[in-house]
Amino acid sequence: MRNNNKKENNDSKVLKTRLLDNEPVGMTVQVVRVMGDGAFRQRLLEMGFVRGARVTVLKNAPLQDPVEYMIMGSHISLRHSEAAQIEVTEKDAEFCDMEDAFNGIIETEVAGVDPMADNVLRVVLVGNPNCGKTSLFNNVTGAKEKVGNYGGVTVDSKEGWFNIGGRKVQLVDLPGTYSLTEYSPEEMYVRTYIRDNHPDAILNIVDAGNLERNLYLTTQVMDMNIPMVIALNMWDELEKSGDHLDIEMMSRLLGARMVPVTAYNGHGVKEVLQATMEAIDESEQDTLHHNVNYGPLIEDILKELGEMCPKLDRYTVLKIIENDQHAIQLLDGQENAEQAKALAAEMRGRIERDYNDDITSIITDLKYGFVRGALAEALTPNPERATGETKPGYSMDRLLTNKWLALPILLVLMWLMFEATFTLGAYPQEWIESGIGWLGDWIGKAMLDGILKDLIVDGIIGGVGGVLVFLPQILILFFCISLLEDSGYMARAAFIVDRIMHRVGLHGKSFIPYLIGFGCGVPAIMATRTLENRRDRIVTILTIPFMSCSARLPAYLLLVAAFFTAKQGLILMSIYLIGILVAAITAIILSKTILKHDKTQFVMELPPYRKPTARNATIHMWSKGKQYLQKMGTIILAASIIVWALGYFPRHEGQTPQEQIENSYMGQMGKAIEPLVEPLGFNWQMGVSVLTGAAAKEIVVSTMGVLYTGETDADEESTSLKEKLQTATKPNGEPVFNWMVAYSFMLFILLYFPCIAALAAIKREAGWKWVAFEVIYTTAVAWIVSFIFYQTAIRL
Ligand code: GDP
Ligand code: MG
Repeated sequence: MRNNNKKENNDSKVLKTRLLDNEPVGMTVQVVRVMGDGAFRQRLLEMGFVRGARVTVLKNAPLQDPVEYMIMGSHISLRHSEAAQIEVTEKDAEFCDMEDAFNGIIETEVAGVDPMADNVLRVVLVGNPNCGKTSLFNNVTGAKEKVGNYGGVTVDSKEGWFNIGGRKVQLVDLPGTYSLTEYSPEEMYVRTYIRDNHPDAILNIVDAGNLERNLYLTTQVMDMNIPMVIALNMWDELEKSGDHLDIEMMSRLLGARMVPVTAYNGHGVKEVLQATMEAIDESEQDTLHHNVNYGPLIEDILKELGEMCPKLDRYTVLKIIENDQHAIQLLDGQENAEQAKALAAEMRGRIERDYNDDITSIITDLKYGFVRGALAEALTPNPERATGETKPGYSMDRLLTNKWLALPILLVLMWLMFEATFTLGAYPQEWIESGIGWLGDWIGKAMLDGILKDLIVDGIIGGVGGVLVFLPQILILFFCISLLEDSGYMARAAFIVDRIMHRVGLHGKSFIPYLIGFGCGVPAIMATRTLENRRDRIVTILTIPFMSCSARLPAYLLLVAAFFTAKQGLILMSIYLIGILVAAITAIILSKTILKHDKTQFVMELPPYRKPTARNATIHMWSKGKQYLQKMGTIILAASIIVWALGYFPRHEGQTPQEQIENSYMGQMGKAIEPLVEPLGFNWQMGVSVLTGAAAKEIVVSTMGVLYTGETDADEESTSLKEKLQTATKPNGEPVFNWMVAYSFMLFILLYFPCIAALAAIKREAGWKWVAFEVIYTTAVAWIVSFIFYQTAIRL
């Protein structure tokens, strides 16, 4: 087998190779090798661009870049520059027969574990993105986590519980990964999670319609020596396709139990859980584990190195041989760490010489060889289906990614989404508003006058109520986003706009977080985890706050209604566009300076089109709604109380509400910063609003309400506030507001300090350093932009 391999490689030297990038649409070719190195190459290999794999060029994106390819039954998009790194040859060239690499499985002995060691049974879900992990998780635990037809929707682990045979089991939904390398945060997360928590069993979920690539991950999980069961999910789709899989034979070849499952309707779920429990129980007595047999050379090396580091599992030992830095670090502190490292390096050299290739490709090829060998035996494709045929539903793609129609369709869909959000949302919003008004009145009448009543009515109901009214909008927005994600369209949106995003140094996938950012920055920042590259993620996170979130809208609506008589829609839109422009400039500057790097990749899977279900969209809507309510219950509640207290104390007898607030701590703070905001056209009241708005942008309007009308339940519709603003005068009799002041104020609200909740999200995703940067940067930009606008406007 080893000699074989050498011969094949020599053969390939006389093959006529070309670059994938030069292949015309419709062409099918065979991969010879992937050039380049590091994360990019690794990603391509694990996505299936291995020796001998067939690739079909499907189409160019509307803006010509990237390009959609089909490989191993899935659709992958690559930029031209990336496709130029892939060497290909004629589709029928016989230079590599991967099934030859199939050596079957071997059994290795590991110490038995007591599954109830800590009295809790823990099962983790591992699988490719989009294979249905969350659907299964929800089905089993009754949880309502977000399901999405879009890679990387699950970006955190979620825990739930279920009961089986009188036992209580914890189920953990891990992020989807194609592999377990060191190159992406999800992969590292899954890897470390399994190593640190040592679950009792792994439930490996695979997409039965895409076994070749899905089982690649399985080959890695198998080596972790934890009892494993494979759920053959999307069994309904496999049956529909007419392919036949001999499950029993496949289980035998892989040495793992397999159970057919259809996660979204629950078929087979009970059986797979039962099988998992059996696997756990058996692991108590049975100490044999089934692993991929990599052939005599590598097996010998694994054995030798494994004996040197008995604490490490087979997976980690193999990773050390593969020169994986994180795995190598695990050696540190062991007594013979240095020897082990030296041995691994020496062996690596030997394997590379023997196979005449680099270690990454060798191991990937062997793993894929194992998978293909098993599939060749157990899977009989439907003879009536042509190879390379696309999935049902794909015909829509012609229209949706059409050269001329794609961008207009994208814009129309976005417009529809925002239109639905704001017009439909207006009705429930009114009901909530009157409900809150009624509650405030009722408590106001029922309670005795005093601090407590003021706190509840003005501080809590006034503050939280002002935020609660946006709940309908948030729900509708996320309902729409969920429909788009679930249908498979979101990935296409990234495909369509990648060329544009690339201009500012970003990935097409950043588009989605930005879009969500118009709703609320918090979920948007969370959604950046779908980006693989940390640098891209940080740039996107730092620029998301410039997408004007819905919390800022009330302030704009109030100011536009009060100070612009014509073209109100355009004025409002200009604010949004300026936000986008500032974000673009910021992204360019960041990618050219402190967050510089060579290239962003666009290796992305385009999931099949699926019919979105109302159930999923509703679940998603509720989970976002819950997040929003939690934000209100905690941060905004606290902020409302603080803001109220700052405006309420110190108390003096016989003051009007305006005098009270003017002399309060907040009034004093506002006056203290007045010189700073004066050049922008603001007075101290606006300064105070800006300060309180730092807690949450919705509070800007309610603070204005208190300062100008003495009422706390002011909102953008409240005529009295609008009139008060229009008629407010400075001590010298000039009006406080005019359109220039209003616009300058809107610019400032747009650009300055993201709210506390957004900062909390930034802290979680990027760390304190970037929070500090963001606070200073956004506020400086806001000040400068407002300053330039106002000072220019008053001189014209
Ligand atoms: P995850 O990314 O692995 O968590 O996958 P999700 O649970 O979010 O599901 C991805 C997509 O596959 C969603 O659109 C689901 O509705 C769909 N899906 C999940 N399970 C099945 C199944 O058994 N059959 C079919 N046809 N679709 C499924
Ligand atoms: Mg998921």
